[in-house]
Amino acid sequence: MYERYPRLIIEKFAIRNNTKQIVSWCDKAGIFVVGVIKGATGIPEVASEMVNGGVKMLASSRLEQLDRCKKRGIKIPMMMLRVPMLSEIPKMIEICDYSLNSEMTTINEINREVLSKCKEKHGIVLMADLGDLREGFINKEEIIDAAIKIEKKLDGVELKGIGTNLGCYGSVIPTEDKMKELKLLSEKIEESIGRKLEIVSGGATSSLMGVFDGYMDGINMLRIGAAIITGPYEDLNIIYGRKELDALQSPFTLEAEIIEIKKKPSYPIGKLGVDAFGKKGEYIDQGIRLRALIAVGRADYGDISSLIPTDENIKIIGASGDHTILDIEDSKNNYNIGDIIKFELKYSAILNLSSSENVARIYK
Ligand SMILES: *Cc1c(COP(=O)(O)O)cnc(C)c1O
Repeated sequence: MYERYPRLIIEKFAIRNNTKQIVSWCDKAGIFVVGVIKGATGIPEVASEMVNGGVKMLASSRLEQLDRCKKRGIKIPMMMLRVPMLSEIPKMIEICDYSLNSEMTTINEINREVLSKCKEKHGIVLMADLGDLREGFINKEEIIDAAIKIEKKLDGVELKGIGTNLGCYGSVIPTEDKMKELKLLSEKIEESIGRKLEIVSGGATSSLMGVFDGYMDGINMLRIGAAIITGPYEDLNIIYGRKELDALQSPFTLEAEIIEIKKKPSYPIGKLGVDAFGKKGEYIDQGIRLRALIAVGRADYGDISSLIPTDENIKIIGASGDHTILDIEDSKNNYNIGDIIKFELKYSAILNLSSSENVARIYK
């Protein structure tokens, strides 16, 4: 009876099955999958299921998450996804076998630290910015120069390959010409260092488009998080209409408890200013409606647009930090105080809920 709410239900087999499906798609295109764990705050149970599902490496933008996974006994190689801070290099070379990089200053420092501690060589993947304008060398000469320097001058690091990231800041789509551009760059670098690169990393979940449409020639790695943790609720499906992701499951569900049910007007009564977050609200007068208040709010999940009620006749009409207001007038269910409302989740809600101390986690 007295379970703890709100809670996040995590279906481990769904994580494993999603991973297996994505690994099998990528495998046919000659691509291996790196499991990106940051979207679910690096929860080791989630990371383990990615490993069970066949990822060859785990990656995160946060060292703490990779460290936790290692301490739980996960043995596969670890990759630092976010260009490392100088201040975290000593820790990074303890935890990670690979990192994505875009600054020679940082790479030189990694090299120095590895040599001074007599560690094994750290693997460097150089990031090329193909127009999304977040991290990476935007100048092709500069990345080729960096590759040659690492190859010829540095003994503490090893040039493992190159990669790119798209669809993060600039919302640039991983189209065929972008993948060709990366392949071409990898060939130029191979020519200038006189050997093959091990890794050509073509992006994240959005690059699955290229796998589905068969234009990933020359690419052999993808770094996938969102598709595994959101399944059919990934943007690829919701925004780009890629129905392939309907083959996946939705591993995370939010459960929250009803604390008030009342008929209320839909338009606020009084002189209107700003809401709990300092914004002017938009309210449509739909007359008196039956509404439920649930004990979960923006402090837990972020934004209401990232929640999808499993009762499709419920409408989320607003939220403050600790409350969410639902219109339940059209629902066929007869809700009572203490009942539990369930939501499927988009990426940002999983990110927030999995890191909240107010949200219990139940593994199934
Ligand atoms: C987050 C991230 C990924 C994974 O992206 P998803 O959309 O979750 O698959 C891959 N690469 C980098 C550099 C990232 O920061």
